Amino acid sequence: MQCPKDGTDLIEERMHGIEVDHCGTCNGRWLDHHELDELEATRADEDERRGTIRFADRTSDLRCPICGEPMAAFNYRAYDLEIDTCRDEHGFWLDAGEEGRVRDIIDERVRELKRSASAEVAWGDFLNGLSGGGGGDGVWGSVRRFFGGGRR
Ligand SMILES: [Zn+2]
Ligand SMILES: [Zn+2]
Repeated sequence: MQCPKDGTDLIEERMHGIEVDHCGTCNGRWLDHHELDELEATRADEDERRGTIRFADRTSDLRCPICGEPMAAFNYRAYDLEIDTCRDEHGFWLDAGEEGRVRDIIDERVRELKRSASAEVAWGDFLNGLSGGGGGDGVWGSVRRFFGGGRR
C-alpha cells in the first residue's frame, strides 16, 4: 500500500496497540476503517464514543490507497481537524500528528461529559434540598415565621 500524498510504500507499525500503516516520508498514517474507533477506545468507553464523527463532508484531493477512488474529507467530531476517509469504508488517512489530536479531542469530550454529568447531580441535590428536607413546611414556613413573628 502506498501513501496517498507522496506514493511512499507504507510500513506497518504499532500505535497505541493498533496496527497502522505509516509513511516514513510525510509521517502520515493509514487506519483501517474499524481502527479509528479502536484509537478512540484507547481513551474513552463505548458511551463516551457515541455520536457523529463525520461533519461537513466534502471531496478530498487524496485518493484511497486501497481502491484508488477520491476520498472524502470531513471535520472530525465537528472540531477543526480534517481527516480523509474512503467512501467505501476502506479506512482513514491521518496526517502527521493527527492521531494525537484525535486522542486530545476524545479526552476533551470525556471531560465535558463528566462535567455535565456532575452538574446534573449537583442540580438534583439542590432541588431535593428545596422540596424535601428540614422542618416540615420548609423554606416558606421559615419565611412566614420570620415575618409573622417580627411584627406584632
Ligand atoms: Zn507520505
Ligand atoms: Zn477505498
